[in-house]
Amino acid sequence: MTDITARLADLQSRVATACTQCGRDPSEVRLLAVSKTKPLDLIEDAIAAGQDDFGENYLQDGLPKTEALPKATWHFIGAIQSNKTRDIANHFDWVHSVASEKVARRLSEQRDPALGPLKVLIQVNTSQESQKSGVAPEQALPLAKYLANLDNLVAAGLMTIPAASEDPSQQRRPFQMLRETRDHIVDTAGLPDFQHLSMGMTGDFETAITEGSTWIRIGTAIFGSRS
Ligand SMILES: *Cc1c(COP(=O)(O)O)cnc(C)c1O
Repeated sequence: MTDITARLADLQSRVATACTQCGRDPSEVRLLAVSKTKPLDLIEDAIAAGQDDFGENYLQDGLPKTEALPKATWHFIGAIQSNKTRDIANHFDWVHSVASEKVARRLSEQRDPALGPLKVLIQVNTSQESQKSGVAPEQALPLAKYLANLDNLVAAGLMTIPAASEDPSQQRRPFQMLRETRDHIVDTAGLPDFQHLSMGMTGDFETAITEGSTWIRIGTAIFGSRS
């Protein structure tokens, strides 16, 4: 058994425990293995262990990996420059970090329709005081409605990267805010596919699961720390 196989098994059991504790079905929580900066052989180990979904946040680093391992499911999770949308639109299956109409429109226009619709999540800035990217929570509804009218996209939900918090009692708040924002959008805009909440990383995924995460994005706990 490789390190990666053991770490994935350990992670799966932590996910199962977290789900049991909050009464959720573990099949509702999907694992996105964040492979940014990591070499192909480690990703191949993870694939051999049954992992299918991988996340990259720099196009330059991620694009060659999507080309080398096209059978995996690739998720773009980083900041998007509008001149890079064509490669993102055609080499990835999901984008978690849409935060403007302009980027959304370009992704839809540039996506090859033969690939089927690109699944997109709106990145929401749940910690107002920080410089983190993403739209303010109240801007997510109008952007979701805009996405719903684009031909080659599916508006699939919301994503957030909370500001680091020292205080564990504050860890839940951004995740709650994301869930409430999604529920409001589903109720008001009636978007049937707008179900996903991409939230939770190595340090806080158990809390995110308690608050309804459907995609946890895990790098360090699978691939080890990054230099
Ligand atoms: C790096 C990264 C992760 C994974 O972080 P870990 O703490 O290593 O699990 C998750 N989401 C995004 C957007 C990232 O950039």
